[in-house]
Amino acid sequence: MGDYVFNPAPRPAAPVEGGGFFPVRRIFCVGQNYAAHAREMGGDPSREPPFFFSKPADALVTGGADTPFPSLTQNLHHEIELVVAIDKGGANIPAARAENHVHGYAAGLDLTRRDLQAEARKTGKPWDMSKGFDNSAPLGLIRPAEKTGHPKAGRISLKVNGVVTQEGDLADLIWSVPEIIAALSAYVALAPGDLIFTGTPSGVGPLERGDVLLGKIEGVGEVRTKVV
Ligand code: MN
Repeated sequence: MGDYVFNPAPRPAAPVEGGGFFPVRRIFCVGQNYAAHAREMGGDPSREPPFFFSKPADALVTGGADTPFPSLTQNLHHEIELVVAIDKGGANIPAARAENHVHGYAAGLDLTRRDLQAEARKTGKPWDMSKGFDNSAPLGLIRPAEKTGHPKAGRISLKVNGVVTQEGDLADLIWSVPEIIAALSAYVALAPGDLIFTGTPSGVGPLERGDVLLGKIEGVGEVRTKVV
């Protein structure tokens, strides 16, 4: 590696329940994947094909660390999501075999500069700066699928300062995890280390410095962080 002109950054990694780290390659996210949230965002909750955006791998915040309030927004929003950790790559993965590509699951937060996203939606501009900013992806422990199974139902919720703000059930995903993997792997070849945020239930809302977030997904785990 002597040819690099400076030392490469360490690979982002997410702690796994029971020990070890999941080396993160890319972070993909699904838009509007619960009907009630699609409606609250002014979208159509029908089964239009899923759409995707991404965050940089180094946007992760792990281990319950604090999340710095980002620059250039007056409207930072929380989105609690089921996160899928891919450990076996592939293109055009059939939904029927998609679960073979999953290492495990975690609870994560798709933090969003809602004001910048609203402006981008209005003007047809990209979402990168509204979604893919520094520290925009707090993530809880990854729980291996041998322990979780492949969850098809279960309560997903978020408390801000002890008050429930978001609540839903994994059974209400418009596109299931296998369907998401099939659709995403038609756009890009998935690779070991990819994470997929699968969309958020309704109840998204603004955050301020000092807010304490605790997200829980039944059978999967928790994500916690404080906005500072
Ligand atoms: Mn989201």
